[in-house]
Amino acid sequence: MEAKKGILMVISGFSGAGKGTLVKKLLQNYDNYVLSISMTTRKPREGERHGVEYFFVDREQFEQTIAENGLIEYATYCDNYYGTPRAFVEEQLAAGKDVILEIEIQGALQIKEKFPESLLLFVTPPCASELKRRLEGRGTETSEVIAKRLSRAYEESEGMDAYDYIVINDDLEVCVKELHAMIEAARNEPVRRKDFIARIREEMKAFRPEAE
Ligand code: 5GP
Repeated sequence: MEAKKGILMVISGFSGAGKGTLVKKLLQNYDNYVLSISMTTRKPREGERHGVEYFFVDREQFEQTIAENGLIEYATYCDNYYGTPRAFVEEQLAAGKDVILEIEIQGALQIKEKFPESLLLFVTPPCASELKRRLEGRGTETSEVIAKRLSRAYEESEGMDAYDYIVINDDLEVCVKELHAMIEAARNEPVRRKDFIARIREEMKAFRPEAE
C-alpha cells in the first residue's frame, strides 16, 4: 500500500486574529501536526529565539536561500522578507505528518499553485473592531506598527476569497475543535468519495440492461 502523505495546511489570518494561539493549541492537543518554522529578516521580538519562532537571518542570507531554491514560497510583509524552508516541509509530508504553515496571503497563493491539494484556512475575529482591540491589547507593538498592520488587514480582507475555509475565532477552545474536525473531514473526503463511488457502481450493476 502507498504510504500516506500528510496534508499541507496554510493558516493565514489578520495579524492579531489569534492564529498563533490557535496553532499552538492544535499542536498541543493532537499529534498529527507539525509546524514549519519560517525564515525572516524581521528582528526578533522580546522573548523570540532563533530556530523556535523563526530563523532570523539578514537580507543577504535570505536572498542566498531564494537563489538556492531553498524556500517553497516567500513574500515581503511590512518591509521584511518571510519564507518557508523547503526541506522540512517535504520530509514531514513524506513521513505522513500534517504540516502547518502560518503564513500570509501572498505565500498562501504560491502554495495553492504549487500544491493544489493543500488546504488554505483563514482565521478572523468575529468583527473588525475586535481585531483592533486585540492588537492594542497585545502591547508588543508601537502604535505606528499597529496602524500598519490594520491597513494590511484591510488589504488582506480583499484576498479572503482565495481560502478554502474561513475560521471565526470567537471562543478559542471551540475554534480548535472545529478546525481539527474540518481538517479530518478534508483528509477523509477523497477516500470516502472513492469508496462510495466504487460501492454504488457495484450496486448499479443490478440495473444494467440485459443486452449490453
Ligand atoms: P510576524 O512578524 O507578526 O511574526 O508575521 C508577519 C506576517 O508574516 C504574518 O501574517 C505571518 O503569518 C507571516 N509569515 C510568517 N512566516 C511566513 C512565511 O514563511 N511566509 C510568508 N509568506 N508569510 C509568513
